[in-house]
Amino acid sequence: MTIPLADLVAQYRTIQTDVDAAIRSVLESGHFILGPNGKALEQEVAAYVGVGHAVGVASGTDALILALRAIGIGPGDEVIVPDYTFLATASAVLHASASPVLVDVDPKTYCIDLEAVVARITPRTRAIIPVHLFGQPADMNGLMDLAAARGLTVIEDNAQALGAMYRGRRTGAIGHIGCLSFFPSKNLGGYGDGGMVVTNDPAVAERVRMLRTHGWREKYDPEVLGYNSRLDEMQAAVLRVKLRHLDDWNSERGRRARLYAQAFAGTNVRTPIEPTGATHVHHLYVVGVAHRAAMEAALKARGIATAVYYPRALHATKLFRASVAGRTFPVSESLSEDLLAIPLYPEMSDEQQDTVVAAMRTAALAHT
Ligand SMILES: *Cc1c(COP(=O)(O)O)cnc(C)c1O
Repeated sequence: MTIPLADLVAQYRTIQTDVDAAIRSVLESGHFILGPNGKALEQEVAAYVGVGHAVGVASGTDALILALRAIGIGPGDEVIVPDYTFLATASAVLHASASPVLVDVDPKTYCIDLEAVVARITPRTRAIIPVHLFGQPADMNGLMDLAAARGLTVIEDNAQALGAMYRGRRTGAIGHIGCLSFFPSKNLGGYGDGGMVVTNDPAVAERVRMLRTHGWREKYDPEVLGYNSRLDEMQAAVLRVKLRHLDDWNSERGRRARLYAQAFAGTNVRTPIEPTGATHVHHLYVVGVAHRAAMEAALKARGIATAVYYPRALHATKLFRASVAGRTFPVSESLSEDLLAIPLYPEMSDEQQDTVVAAMRTAALAHT
């Protein structure tokens, strides 16, 4: 592909000196797990997001699992999650031995639909996990009001939206707990797996710290059944370098997104909405297209990468099919049929973006 969906090597070139020095210093320190870089990154991310506590873990998936376990979610509990998201949002609930309750999403934001959440609350409901999908903040005000009225915990799946703002606050800092992923392709990505739990609740942070290290506070004396889920020093050192660039990268994503939106105005390519009172950080630039397979083929023929997030809504997967028998998810179903991610990343050139736009316009016109 001449134009990829993202270009992590191009990004590395822009920060190579600092990254190389950071990695070398870890190698020379001989300290690889739970050391000074991890601790410093936790403080830096907590300050960035605007929360009191951050705890590094091995992945975004683990952040969700440990967050759920930290608040005591377990057998018999229900957790409401969007049907249209990455698998881990819902599988984390299963790993916590609880039941994920899938609900449909909003046709404009593609994030969890508030009315659909209200309809699925039962006496067993304990928590809601909104996902800021593709970098677009979910309706947090509505969710927080609902959660307060019903005594529920809100865990933000902020894996795709680090840096996004919602009514003056960063996503991840609005719910009771926020979960971050540092998977390489995320807006803040390491060179391997990593994740973090952020919260203002010191008891939750303490519990996650215990769970990430075998369930003990005091070595070799576990209090609960825990995990081995730490963010390593190499990743933390790299992420500390990258965190300093995150706002610039996100604003460049926003600028490219606006250029796309202008270029596709008046065509049948449906671009993401710009939310009011919030900023979308465009982890992925995802458009709705009428003839997706034809569009994918037309772009591929010109060397332009595309990808489908997600080809199956969760209710349509083998894992969840049986648990949703008889229920329908019309919005998420239709999104799984027409959404297509096209190249957008901070290091993209004007020429590359113009090439994508021209190819898309030609292909879209061929079908009108
Ligand atoms: C990436 C992602 C996760 C999981 O993160 P990992 O670090 O890959 O485990 C969870 N939820 C969403 C919405 C994601 O995009």
